Amino acid sequence: MELFEKRILFTNNVCKLIAFITAHSIGVSFGETYRTYEQAKLYFEQGIGAIDSQHCKGLAVDLNLYRGNEYLKDAKDYICAGKYWELLHHDNRWGGNWDKDDTILEEGEFDACHFEMMG
Ligand SMILES: [Zn+2]
Repeated sequence: MELFEKRILFTNNVCKLIAFITAHSIGVSFGETYRTYEQAKLYFEQGIGAIDSQHCKGLAVDLNLYRGNEYLKDAKDYICAGKYWELLHHDNRWGGNWDKDDTILEEGEFDACHFEMMG
């Protein structure tokens, strides 16, 4: 699959994810989507991101969730969305379960607002 095809599939899946989240009366806004390699390098040097981030390929998005006017900061509030994301495509990966095992939010799995597609 070409990268542009994967980007289209990723974007379609993000639309499904947003529809799923909003159907549960949770508000959604975009955080970071596309990231330049220069930005990824800067984040990496600051210890807040991967040098080979899927954001640089246009295959990752950070979503902010809200219940009413309240911004949801707790990773546990993203579990439902993360599990749904993993079900949408076998290449999908959620920042609350990097290793895609049955145990979520393990040590290092703190990036619950991050949704990506491998490839
Ligand atoms: Zn991210």
